[in-house]
Amino acid sequence: MDGWKNILGHAEIIEKLKKFSAEKNFPHAIIFSGIEGIGKRKTAEIFAASLLCENLRDDGEPCGICSSCKLMNGKSHPDFYVVEPEVTKTTKNIKIGQIRTLQSQTALKPVQSDIRVVIIDGAEFLKKEAANCLLKTLEEPMSRTVFILITANKAGLLMTVRSRCVTINFERLKDEDIKSELLRREIESERAEKISIISGGSLGRAVKLSESGGYEMRESALDLIERIFRAEMSNEDIFTKGGQITDWTKEQFSDFVIYIQKILRDIFLLDTATLYNPDLKERLEQIKFSDQKIIEMVKIGVETHKRLKSNANLRLLSESYFLQLKKLVVSN
Ligand SMILES: [Zn+2]
Repeated sequence: MDGWKNILGHAEIIEKLKKFSAEKNFPHAIIFSGIEGIGKRKTAEIFAASLLCENLRDDGEPCGICSSCKLMNGKSHPDFYVVEPEVTKTTKNIKIGQIRTLQSQTALKPVQSDIRVVIIDGAEFLKKEAANCLLKTLEEPMSRTVFILITANKAGLLMTVRSRCVTINFERLKDEDIKSELLRREIESERAEKISIISGGSLGRAVKLSESGGYEMRESALDLIERIFRAEMSNEDIFTKGGQITDWTKEQFSDFVIYIQKILRDIFLLDTATLYNPDLKERLEQIKFSDQKIIEMVKIGVETHKRLKSNANLRLLSESYFLQLKKLVVSN
């Protein structure tokens, strides 16, 4: 069973949560806030296990052998709930029906333990009426339920919900921590180093970069921008690229557009901000677009991203995207 020792970084938060569960004194509504891929969900699960454990170890780890720990391990603890957004092609929401179901399930006394723990992962996707419905539960003073609301966009939560919770802010992970985790996963050293630099402090992103070919995709995005800048991208090249993209998923093409957007943003802010791609600085310095052009190029990217959601012909969409970028750059 995973325990605190399996969490990368966040030492202070872990100490605080260990103290909460050891002293059995904790807030009943907590927000875990921070970017994607830094361990908020895993931390919430281990915190839940330690709150429910019947025999917490002296070092603050859940014991792993009591009946609660066994049930947690088997993902069948009757007093542990997880609510996640329902995802459709166009929407991602936590609906009022999900909150009502949760409320009816948690109306009675906890079954196995003294308390129950509810994780709401993606709390920013609570629809307004769902959030208002949840609010009533958060306000119950004698509640035996601990709510952990996980969010990558705290501003997306209703103020009334935020004000009833204690917020714990998860910082970005350190590059060296991400690198050592990648090395542990047997990623070759030089590659691990580079990926850790561009991961933006997110282990999730680093793993995605290493597994999905994201690292190579970023390279290909930069190559495209360089070739457009040097006016080396013929229409023929664009159609060839569009042909290759037919093999991609929508998500891959979406990632590709995001890499291009981040590269453009880095070129725009080269000397004034922390770059998304600090390891590419020398190459980025060679690309000179006017500010106005970069702004227009980013707008085209935003528009392409929107169209990707509704319409799906990747070949047409990608070709149109590249052609628009090219046209903009050659125009005066
Ligand atoms: Zn236990």
